[in-house]
Amino acid sequence: MNTLGDTPNRSRSKAMQERAERYFPGGVNSPVRAFRAVGGEPPFVERADGAWLTDADGNRYIDYFGSWGPMILGHAFPPVVEAIARAARNSASFGASTAAEADLAERVAACYPALEKMRFVSSGTEATMSAIRLARAATGRKIVVKFEGCYHGHADGLLVKAGSGVATLGIPGSAGVPEEIAGLTLALPYNDASAVEAAFAAHLGAIAAVILEPVVGNAGCIVPASGYLAGLRALTTREGALLIVDEVMTGFRVALGGACERYGIEADLVTLGKIVGGGLPVGVFGGKRRFMDLLAPLGPVYQAGTLSGNPLAMAAGIATVGYLQEHAETVYPQLEATAKAVFEGVAAEAAKAGVAMTLNRVGSMGTWFFTPGPVRNYAEAATSDTERFGRFHRAMLERGVWLPPSQFEAAFVSTAHGGAEVKATIEAAREALRA
Ligand SMILES: *Cc1c(COP(=O)(O)O)cnc(C)c1O
Repeated sequence: MNTLGDTPNRSRSKAMQERAERYFPGGVNSPVRAFRAVGGEPPFVERADGAWLTDADGNRYIDYFGSWGPMILGHAFPPVVEAIARAARNSASFGASTAAEADLAERVAACYPALEKMRFVSSGTEATMSAIRLARAATGRKIVVKFEGCYHGHADGLLVKAGSGVATLGIPGSAGVPEEIAGLTLALPYNDASAVEAAFAAHLGAIAAVILEPVVGNAGCIVPASGYLAGLRALTTREGALLIVDEVMTGFRVALGGACERYGIEADLVTLGKIVGGGLPVGVFGGKRRFMDLLAPLGPVYQAGTLSGNPLAMAAGIATVGYLQEHAETVYPQLEATAKAVFEGVAAEAAKAGVAMTLNRVGSMGTWFFTPGPVRNYAEAATSDTERFGRFHRAMLERGVWLPPSQFEAAFVSTAHGGAEVKATIEAAREALRA
């Protein structure tokens, strides 16, 4: 059933999936899109508007994955569409500098004072990979500390006990990553500052950086415990290691200035992505001037990109970040209210249906874990009944609600989600939780 009460026909999506499987492993260009963790067949999207996706068979869905984060203003938001179109008429790419790059940088720096200098790349993966190279160069050390269930893109050294698709598919690491490289990454439990303290003691003077998701999204949503982030800041400062705050998901999401603003974190390096590109491929890494000036052409750390700072991507980023800046006082309270209503509304339905569920939420990102909880780290997230989640996901999709297709991915609300969408979602959940 969709919201019109019909069982959706997905014959065109099915044919498209079969065709795609001839060309792409699993039929996809990013693994979680294949719906392996939830079963069922992924609808092919034809278009989207506001909070709604329309598939190739004309079925409509309320969207709670928002292109995995970027679409905080909803789909085809007119100022973003117009900005991209205007930029495209002047050519899609030059490979030379444009004023738009500094225009976006100025806006980003206004939201993230930690980014004294920055560089634009084309993905979150590039941003974190480059931040780590920089941290190693700055410290002359090799080891990187990350946390179990955190995902920082798919660079070799960061795929150790990673979240997102790696957790979804139950892969401990990735084949093809030499153990010499994986061995330079220490994966520790999240929300446990004493584990970090112990790692510093065990690897004296060898840890270049600690990288984390300040609110985890890629193991499902996990909230930092009170004092945890401040503890990491104090430890890294004491030990001469850099604190890399990976805000690719949380940036412009949990506040205009991301988790750095929300929790008052002073990062050495920050990585951004997703929202900062307004749906086009943009990543950012930046931080203290003394670190960033180590980059070529000023310094010895090499990093480059043919399409970095691409004019279309900059235009979409300026339109998106600009809108958020100019409307922050209404946007963030509205997102908070909508998210509270829908996340708590669905959780209340689970309680009524006698389904064990733990809700974790920060602002407009959250996860319904199918476990009595609590969920404070990856090991606890992994106690979720993923089969039960899969059943819920399929039943919701049938009723016109598209949730992220994994227990270990955060759901998002946009400014285009309104009372009607919240009500329809809670009604769908009432039935889906009994399915
Ligand atoms: C999505 C994500 C990345 C990777 O970004 P891509 O653009 O997919 O390469 C890195 N870190 C975090 C926290 C993310 O959520």
